[in-house]
Amino acid sequence: MANFAVVFKIMRKVFFSLLLCCSIAGIGQEQYPEDAFRSPMDIPLVLAGTFGELRSNHFHSGVDIKTQQRQGLPIYAIANGSVTRIKISHWGYGKVLYVAHPNGYTSVYGHLQKFAPEIEAYIKKEQYKKKSYEVEVFPEYGEVKVEKGKVIAYGGNTGGSSGPHLHFEIRSSISEKPTNPLLYGLEIRDATNPTLLKLFGYPLSENAKVNQSKSTIELDFKKQADGTFLAETVNAIGTIGFGFIGYDRQDLAANKNGVYAVQQLVNGRIYTDYDFESFSFTETRYLNTLIDYDRYGKYRQRIQKLFKVPRNRLSIYNTLKNDGKIEVREGLSYNVELLIKDYEGNLVKAVIPIEGKNEPVKVEKDEMKTENYVIAKKPNNYDLGGAKVYFPSNTFYDDFYIDLKKDNDTVTIHNNRIAAHRNFTITFDVSDYSEVERKQLFIARLDSRLRPSHASTYKRGETFTTRTRNLGTYTLARDTIAPRIRSKNFKKKQWLNNYRYLSIHISDDLSGVDTYTATLNGKWVLMEYEPKTNTLTYNFDDVILDQKECELEVTVTDNVGNSSTFTSTFFRK
Ligand SMILES: [Zn+2]
Repeated sequence: MANFAVVFKIMRKVFFSLLLCCSIAGIGQEQYPEDAFRSPMDIPLVLAGTFGELRSNHFHSGVDIKTQQRQGLPIYAIANGSVTRIKISHWGYGKVLYVAHPNGYTSVYGHLQKFAPEIEAYIKKEQYKKKSYEVEVFPEYGEVKVEKGKVIAYGGNTGGSSGPHLHFEIRSSISEKPTNPLLYGLEIRDATNPTLLKLFGYPLSENAKVNQSKSTIELDFKKQADGTFLAETVNAIGTIGFGFIGYDRQDLAANKNGVYAVQQLVNGRIYTDYDFESFSFTETRYLNTLIDYDRYGKYRQRIQKLFKVPRNRLSIYNTLKNDGKIEVREGLSYNVELLIKDYEGNLVKAVIPIEGKNEPVKVEKDEMKTENYVIAKKPNNYDLGGAKVYFPSNTFYDDFYIDLKKDNDTVTIHNNRIAAHRNFTITFDVSDYSEVERKQLFIARLDSRLRPSHASTYKRGETFTTRTRNLGTYTLARDTIAPRIRSKNFKKKQWLNNYRYLSIHISDDLSGVDTYTATLNGKWVLMEYEPKTNTLTYNFDDVILDQKECELEVTVTDNVGNSSTFTSTFFRK
C-alpha cells in the first residue's frame, strides 16, 4: 500500500498567466492527486478524443486513447481498488469496467474487447444466469479487488466505438462528476497550438447588426506575422456576440480533438472564460446551448458561442461578464480578443476590432414564420389530423415558429436545426389498418436521405406512440420480412475440433434486430452480439460439451416480432 500515499498538489492550472498576471488565480481551482495514478496503458498515449470535446448531445466525459489500430492490448488498473460496476451493452461504452479507488476517485475503462480472466469469469456467470449478453452488475466494494499495474482488461472496439480505442474516465466516486483525466498527470505529448477555423458574429438584441446583417455572419480574418489572427474590423451596433470553430491537435496524431479552455476579453476585461476541468452528467445536454444548433443542423459544424443564452445551465464558466455579450454604441471602438488553449497551455489568439456604426441593414433576420408559435415554457399540443405531437413544457430552449406537416402517414416536425432538450411524443392513428398490418407496422424516423430507422413504438389499440428528442420526419413503415441468419465460419456436419469460436451472421432488412437467443444441445449458450458487424459469436471455452454430435439452434426476432430460426449440427470431441 506504500505506493498509495496520495500526494495532493494544487493543479497546475495557470490561466493565461502571460496576459492576465494572477488576477484570477484561485478561482474554481480544486486539488487533484497528480501522483496517485499510473497510465491505464503502457504504450505512448495518443488521443483520438479529449475531455469536454463537443459530441452529439453531450460533452465527451473522458479521453479516447488510441490503441494502435489494434484490439487486445492490455489495460492496467491505474491504482489499487475494487471493481464496483461491470456493464456489457451493444451500444454506449460496450464492455466497460468501473474501478473505485480508496482516494475517492473511480476510473472507467470502456469499449473493451474482454476482461481479465477473473473478471471475465465473474461476468460470464452473470450472463449465463440472466441468459443475456447484455448485463450490468454492481459488485460490493472489496468483492472484486484489483491491484495497481495489473491487467484488468484488453482494449477493444465494443459499443458505440468506430475504431479500436480505450475510453478512459476519472470520476469523483461520490458525485460521479467526470473530471479531465489529464489533471492527474497523464502524459500526452502536445506542443502543437490549437487551430482556429472560423469566426462568427451574432447580432443578439432586436436592432443589433453585425456588418449590416441581422443574422449570424461569418467574419474574415488573417494570420499576422506574430502568429495571432486579426479579423477585419467589424462594424456593429446593439448587443452582439461572437463564436468560433476550432480544434486541438496533439503531437503524435492528426486527430482533431476538442480544445481545453476558451477566453474572450473585451477592451482587456474578461467577458467569457470557460474550460473543461469537469462537468456533471446532468448538465451535459446543455452542450446544445453552447453550440450554434442551427449551424450544427445545417452543416454538422459546431460553433462554440462565446456568449451564454438564458437557458444555458452549464457550470463550465469561471467568469462571465454580461453573459459574454458586448453592448456596442455608436461612435465607440472596442477590441475583442479570443484565446483558445489546449491543456498544455498552447494557445491561439484572435483579435476582432469593432467600430460602433449604425449602418443600413443588408441581411435580414433568418426567421421562418409559420402559423404555429411554440412558447418554450409551456406545454404545446398539436393535432395534425391522424397524428398528434405533444411537447412538454421546456422541451425547447427558445420560443420559435414551428413548421409542422402531415402527408398520408408521414409527419414532419420542423427540421433538425432546433434542439429538443426533453423527449416529446408523436402519436399516429392506425385505425385504418387491420390487426395483421398493425403487428408489422412501426414508427420509423427518416434521415436526410429518407432512409428509415426504427423508433421505439408503443402500440396501444388504435394508436402508436414514440418518444424522441429528434425533430424531423417520421412515418409508419411495415416490416414483413423475418431476420436472416447464416453461419460464417462453419458448415453443417463439420468436425470443429480446432475451432475456438462459432461465428454467425444475422441481419434484418427494416425494423432491425431486437432479440437473439442460441442453444447448444438444448441448453442456452452465450452469443456475443456485435451490431457493427452483424455478428454473433459463441466461444467454445464457455461450456464443456458432453456429446460428440452437437445441435446448434439460433433464433432472431426483429423489432416488430418477425422471427427466424437457424439450426445446424456439428461434431466435436
Ligand atoms: Zn470516448
